[in-house]
Amino acid sequence: MSDERPCKRLRTGNASEDSNTSALASPIPPLTAAQLKRDEEVWFPSGNIILVASDQVAFRVYQGILSRRSEVFRGLFELPPPPDTEKIDGCPVVHLPDDPLDLKYLLLVIFCRKNYFYRQDVVIPTAFPILSALIRMSHKYGVQDIYDTALSRLKKFYTSDFETWCDVEGRKHYVQTSPADALAVIEIAHITDNPSLMPSAYLICCSLDTIVRRKRSHDQVLDAPMVSELTPWDLQRVFTGKARLAQRRAAGILAVMQAAPCKDCAKADRCSMATLRTLQRIDVAEIESSMHDKHVFDPLSSWLWRRGLIAKLCGHCMKAVDAVEKKMKLETWCELPEIFDIYVPAEAWPVLTDVLVEDEGDEDEEFD
Ligand SMILES: [Zn+2]
Repeated sequence: MSDERPCKRLRTGNASEDSNTSALASPIPPLTAAQLKRDEEVWFPSGNIILVASDQVAFRVYQGILSRRSEVFRGLFELPPPPDTEKIDGCPVVHLPDDPLDLKYLLLVIFCRKNYFYRQDVVIPTAFPILSALIRMSHKYGVQDIYDTALSRLKKFYTSDFETWCDVEGRKHYVQTSPADALAVIEIAHITDNPSLMPSAYLICCSLDTIVRRKRSHDQVLDAPMVSELTPWDLQRVFTGKARLAQRRAAGILAVMQAAPCKDCAKADRCSMATLRTLQRIDVAEIESSMHDKHVFDPLSSWLWRRGLIAKLCGHCMKAVDAVEKKMKLETWCELPEIFDIYVPAEAWPVLTDVLVEDEGDEDEEFD
């Protein structure tokens, strides 16, 4: 043990945090071994460096392995050790401002070969808090392989691909998450500069505006809308996007109604009548609730014609209606970045013309 003050405090990349850290470096007395809360899993008796996260939770690991895996630690260890290096049990101590559990997830992968993504060769859904911690920690400390794997897994759920987005059950195979996690995804997208995560995260946030989270503030318990946890900029994007999506939905309903009778309709009178009757029977209150953005990619034509009327459309018209709906949704998906006022590079988000070319088939030619 040493009586000397701590000296190794890692830069965080956050100016205010760095400033706080350096301001605190001087007055904090050195920790003793007894004060540390040793992590039971990540504490190797033969380890040669001790990482101390917040709340004085300590991990004893190997400096050489850490250097090999982490670009940031490699840079730190290449610096000559200061003469007043804090040591415990002969090991240099590095203080980190991170949440101990976040750091532990990363260290378990590096030192214990923990695999949060596969069991043998089978994909397992990664719990969102773990995935989020792995992305943030590996990004912060420059552990590229873990960062790539974790980010790629997150993108399986918060996808840029429309077909994948529609396959909700398929996405759940990769990440165990809840709508509220979209708030954290937006933060991850900002921190790691991955704007392609944002459109789907904002889309989910649109449905959070009525969900409240109970919070304690000045000894009072308050119910606050969950989206209010976003920054003002992000909040503005969500509400602007929400209004635009409602407009899209309204236009979509009209477009689908206008699709029948189609130009190839074999029974125009019958299909016109089916459309007219559908229009007459639309429940206005339901239309209003259907404007809610969470429905923007929900099935539309089957909803409008659900009272058995769809059976009265001829085959051509049914296909035409489906084609119009599909194209309309693809357009909305491709324009989600603009809808939410965010810039996503073209290579990271689908462009409508490309999607339509990929999707083009006999049916499109027939009903366009
Ligand atoms: Zn028809």
